[in-house]
Amino acid sequence: MAKKKINLLIVDDEEQFLKSMTKRLEVRDFNVIAVDRGEKAIEAARERPIDVALVDLKMPGINGEQTLEALKKEHQWMEVVILTGHGSVDSAIECTKSGAYSYLQKPCEWERLLSVLTEAYKKKVMNRLNIKEKRMNELLDMSTYSSPQAILEKIRELDRED
Ligand SMILES: [Mg+2]
Repeated sequence: MAKKKINLLIVDDEEQFLKSMTKRLEVRDFNVIAVDRGEKAIEAARERPIDVALVDLKMPGINGEQTLEALKKEHQWMEVVILTGHGSVDSAIECTKSGAYSYLQKPCEWERLLSVLTEAYKKKVMNRLNIKEKRMNELLDMSTYSSPQAILEKIRELDRED
């Protein structure tokens, strides 16, 4: 069986950012779908299952908050992380009230980004399989799965079970 990858949708109007993120995340077992507009993100999520979306707040066309709302409305289990530049932290916090899993400030430290994406994916799997956090942490016994990579691997394994 092919190894399940995490389907990550990235929406950002900065082309360079999209390119570098896609490159770096694909070597970490993420299957990245990168688009530059909220409208395209909504379309892309209708075409294939998305586990986690990383959504820029400020974009031409519909903004990150509207994109978040549309994605959450149409996809029950998808978790959304908001990306925000300086000066828009308040609106990013607002987004967590609209169902965003978390928000990250740009430029974001690589390890922090990976850890938030992993946590968001973990939450998606917990919700979909109806597993409580305590049970999930038992399954991910930190002494057995100590590296972030190993934890991600284990969550993916659980996600395959239906
Ligand atoms: Mg932007």
